Amino acid sequence: MDRELRVGNGYDVHRLERGVPLVLGGVALPYEKGLRAHSDGDALAHAIGDAILGALGLGDLGSHFPDSDSRWRGVSSLLLLERIRDLAGARGARILNVDATVIAEAPKIAPHVPAMRDNLGRALAIASDRVSVKATTNEGLGALGRGEGIAAMAVVLIEVP
Ligand code: MG
Repeated sequence: MDRELRVGNGYDVHRLERGVPLVLGGVALPYEKGLRAHSDGDALAHAIGDAILGALGLGDLGSHFPDSDSRWRGVSSLLLLERIRDLAGARGARILNVDATVIAEAPKIAPHVPAMRDNLGRALAIASDRVSVKATTNEGLGALGRGEGIAAMAVVLIEVP
């Protein structure tokens, strides 16, 4: 059986605002600000979802879950990842691994990484050791460095028939 490897990358950024919960990788982080978005603003989950869609040549998150559709208002982005996992599964695709980086000046991400990996692995139906989540600051540079938002990047490798 001939199988093929495909790579995909994703990027997302959302603005931090007071009075909004901060959710990354399906984990609610204690912080005075959160990410403003149509969904729960989980930039990490969004970057991973975009990477999977990219690997499969299926467009982007915005085309599958548009802001104009009230079904996705405030929804957990893990649910979006489950939908994308099902799209991939229907094509016989197998997600081999995910490697993601969160870029946040604050709060500290590292203590929450194990829970994020568990959540993301569960949503994608892969072992959490196949989901890498790393974190870095932007060294005080630019908007991210001023703590105006949080960004995430992800790469995935997928095996397809
Ligand atoms: Mg997003």
